[in-house]
Order: sequence, then structure tokens, then C-alpha cells
Amino acid sequence: MALKEMIATKFDLKMLSKNPRQKSALLINPPVYDTQYWAEWSQPYGILRIGALLKKHHYKRIELFDFMETDETGKVHRHKINPEESYEERDNPTKPIRPYEITKNGEVLELYKYHFGKTWPEFGAWLQEQGLTAKNPPDEIYISAIMSYWWESARDLILRLRRRFGQKSTIILGGIYPTLVPEHAAEHTAADIVVAGEVEEANGLWTDLSFYRRAPQYAIVTPSRGCPFSCAYCASKTLNGGKQVVRYRPVDDIIAEMKYKYETYGIRDFAFYADFLLWRFEENFMKVLERIVREKLPFRLYAPEGLDVSLLSRSQKLVDLLKRANFQKIYLPCESIDDQLLRSMDRRHVRLEHLVRAAKMCEKAGFRLRNLEVNSFLLYGLHGEKIGHVVKTIIFVSEIVGSIIPMLFTPVPSTAIYNRYFSYFQKQGWDRDLHMLNGKLYPFLKMNEGSISDYVDLQRLMFMLNSHYRSKSFQLFGDTLVSTSFRENLNNGFSAVVDKYKQIGFLKPTEVLKDKEATTPEEET
Ligand code: SF4
Repeated sequence: MALKEMIATKFDLKMLSKNPRQKSALLINPPVYDTQYWAEWSQPYGILRIGALLKKHHYKRIELFDFMETDETGKVHRHKINPEESYEERDNPTKPIRPYEITKNGEVLELYKYHFGKTWPEFGAWLQEQGLTAKNPPDEIYISAIMSYWWESARDLILRLRRRFGQKSTIILGGIYPTLVPEHAAEHTAADIVVAGEVEEANGLWTDLSFYRRAPQYAIVTPSRGCPFSCAYCASKTLNGGKQVVRYRPVDDIIAEMKYKYETYGIRDFAFYADFLLWRFEENFMKVLERIVREKLPFRLYAPEGLDVSLLSRSQKLVDLLKRANFQKIYLPCESIDDQLLRSMDRRHVRLEHLVRAAKMCEKAGFRLRNLEVNSFLLYGLHGEKIGHVVKTIIFVSEIVGSIIPMLFTPVPSTAIYNRYFSYFQKQGWDRDLHMLNGKLYPFLKMNEGSISDYVDLQRLMFMLNSHYRSKSFQLFGDTLVSTSFRENLNNGFSAVVDKYKQIGFLKPTEVLKDKEATTPEEET
């Protein structure tokens, strides 16, 4: 079949043969291949909505295998794998296992790649247990692939399914990856249908959690879709069919979904996922919060992707309402304090003062700063960034908010930044090897000023500033004597004393003793 014929931009269940009442379907959330993975708020809401859609159409049998389902402690399994090895046949990596080697100017950073989530043998055993064999294959298999840099696990999964079921099952690949790069998905995976875009009929459906044997501890709720902006690094426009409009779900429906999940599964933790949650908040998101407060619903709320500071900083009433509705944590995005860099990313609606104001307003509403209740995302590893600017941003964010969440920048296919650097990526072969665009592998390292040591040091600096003692992080520009003295010592020549003492390691003990000029830190200051 020609690649274009495999790509469905308007996928509809009617495109498939047979009466739904006679069909069986298997839903799969693939494993993740990456150097790090956080299993928080990672419920596969897309595939859970497809499950709801199939139920609505009365499919005879629907099963879910979620490789990324956490255990009782909220963790997922992981084991090391080799960087460029395929696991379509092998369950385990060839030994010895090699790490990725990121190199620049003679320095090498080794990073191990892992398979996160349930293992291939576990999956095979589960299929067997379900009686899903070559003789009894599911009619349809729906796979949702999220990050484009995780594409390899979708490839391996589909090839494994092909080996098991042959051509008897129709394999449908959807999600963010095939929406952003449908031709890549059609060429490099063995899916029958590549869904590029939304499955419209599933959009407004509630995620169906009944497929899990053990009820999840939380649920993801999508109150709206779409964004009026088009930042150069964001794929929101492509994911919303090229449109820059926000579509809202009715407030009643959102509240009904949350109440149902509370009453049915005992879920109290809800994470809101939306491209731009706060757009026209007075008529939409605030109404949801008001209902939660008015009805005294016992929920704990989160918006793990962050709240836009330009809108948040407009309304103390909104921030107060977040607190009253029991928002547990606030995440404030702060890409950089470098205005030029922000302009190059088309972040025209956000200014630094918005972050500062939003942080202050959060504090006024009762969220504690410097205490992990208010956190700020800091984007680095960006094309053309200066290390000095990143350091300034780190210090600034640490001072204002007190807790930094470092985010290494990934150029996402289909975005303006990806297109701007496409010829560079193409030269490296990364337009095919999309996993190499993963921010954790520093795709812009070679064209940036910073060395490997510099980037490692940036992380150390952030971790150091994030450290807590008695529920607070240290404030570099605070007004305690310690903060004042710390700052003074950076500028009063004390570094010369430190440098002198650092030389001691290179001197023989007798020479050290003879060093009459050496003074103790106390004497010097
Ligand atoms: S980064 Fe946020 S504001 Fe910018 S386009 Fe994406 S969703 Fe919209």
C-alpha cells in the first residue's frame, strides 16, 4: 500500500470492516525507551478515550495492556538496553550493554538508555493468558504513541504483534507521534493505519478506567483543546488540525466526569491537561473551580503542564480560587529571562514580570514559595543559548519561586524551530532517528557555546538551589546575614584565598607549611 493511503487524517470507525458487535479490540500503551522517565501523571488518556469509543459502539470484546501502568508504589520497571538495538525479536539487550556517548571537544557524557514499563515476556504471557493467539487474533489493535522521540518502542511493538498475529489483525497507530510525523510512522512502523490528528468522535468522551484491574489513583481530565498562540517550539497547532482556536467542554460534563470517577473508583486526585487551560478562564476554567468549591468536592487538583503566567497574573481571584478548590501544586513556566531568546521562540504574550507577579499572587493566595508548592519549569539546552543567560535565569527563578524544574529542550517535529534546523537534523540522520532529538541527549550541544561540563554543572546548580532544609530552599538574594555574607564573599576577593588553598593539593606537605602568605578564611574576611 502506498504510504499516503495508510495515513488517515480523519479517522472514523466506519472506515473499518465488520459489525462492531462482532469485533474484538486490543488497546496498547507501548513501553518507553529513554534515559529517564517519570511515571507521574502519565495515564494514556488518548487510548482510554478510544476504549470508551469502542464501548459506545458495542464492541464484543475490548482489552487493554498498559506497559506503563505503575505498581502499588507508583513505580514502573526499567532495564538497560542498547542505544541503536531493535527489540522486535530480542527480549533482552546484547551484552555488554553500551550507553549513549554524547561528545564535544574531547569530553564524553555517557547516558544509559532504558526500557521503561512492563517487559516483553510479561506482554507475551498476558496475551497468552487472554487467549490472543495467531488462531484467535483480535480484529483490531489500537496503539497510542506519545512522544515522537519514543517512536522506536511503537516500531518494535508493532513488529512483534505482526509476528504473532500476521496480517489477521488491523493495527491502528495514533497519538502525538503519528500526528506530528505521519509519513515517518507510515514508513518506519508496520501499522496498517496511521492516524494523523484527532479521532473526533472520541474527543469529548471520558477516559474509561474500567479497563484496569487495579483502579488508578488519579485521573486526567481535559477541559479544553487548542491554543490561540503558535510558539515556535510547540506542536499545539499541528495537534489541533492547524487551527489556533480553543474548544471547550461543557462545565457540567467536566464536573460529572470527576464526580463519576470519585464515586466509582474513589479517585480524588485530578490532573487537568489542556493546551491552554486558562484561556478565557472567567467563562470556563473558573466555572469548573467554582463548582468544585461550591459543591465541596473532596478533590486534590493539579495542572502538571503549567499555568500560563500572563493570564494567571491577571487575576488574584483566579489564584485564590485555585487555592480554595484545593490545587496542590502550581507550576509556572519560565523558559528564559533572555528576551531575545523568547522573541526567537515567538513567546510574544509572556513577559518576565508575569512570572514575578504570578509567584507573588500565589503566595498571597496561600501557596508557599520555596517549598515545592510553587515550582517553575526552566527550559535549557535551547539552540543558540548562552550559558551566562541560563545561569541568570536559574538564579532569578530560584530567587523568585524557590523551586526549579529543569527541562531539557527537545525540538519537536512540525514546529517552527524543528523546521528552522531541519537541514542540520537531516545531516545527522535525525529526521529518521527521531530518538536522537530527545532533549536529554542534547541535540543542540554541538552548535551551542556550552561544553558537556557546563551542562552538567547547570544541573548541579539547579539541584543545589532546590535543596530544602526545614521546608525551605536557600535564598541567594535573601536578607539574612547568611545570604548577605554569601553574596559579599563572591565579590570581595575571597575567591583568591580559596584559589590559593586549592593549590595545596599540588604542593608537598613541607611546601604547604612554608606557605606564609596563606591565611585562613576567617583571617581574610
Ligand atoms: S506553548 Fe502554550 S501558549 Fe505557546 S502555542 Fe503551545 S500551548 Fe500555546
